[in-house]
Amino acid sequence: MTARGTGRRRDRRPLDCAQVAGALQGFVDGEIRPRLAARVAEHLGCCAWCGFEADAYREIKRALAHHEPVDRAVLARVRAFAESLLNEEAPPRGG
Ligand SMILES: [Zn+2]
Repeated sequence: MTARGTGRRRDRRPLDCAQVAGALQGFVDGEIRPRLAARVAEHLGCCAWCGFEADAYREIKRALAHHEPVDRAVLARVRAFAESLLNEEAPPRGG
């Protein structure tokens, strides 16, 4: 038997919230690679925090596409999210 028991190498490592935040704009715009997009989507499916952020990006994108003013509440949400990333290393886990 080998002493090393840490042989769990996955090529699909889950993204953390900071990584998702960095890729989110490209994800919403459809500008990132499909494989990365799938991983972002997977994260969004299980992380309400980032799902919230993605919704905000989509709302901004939709408003811009229709030449409508962006909802101020959405902008406030995005700002709060960004500040929370700066203030905390990890968002609260929802279980
Ligand atoms: Zn997340």
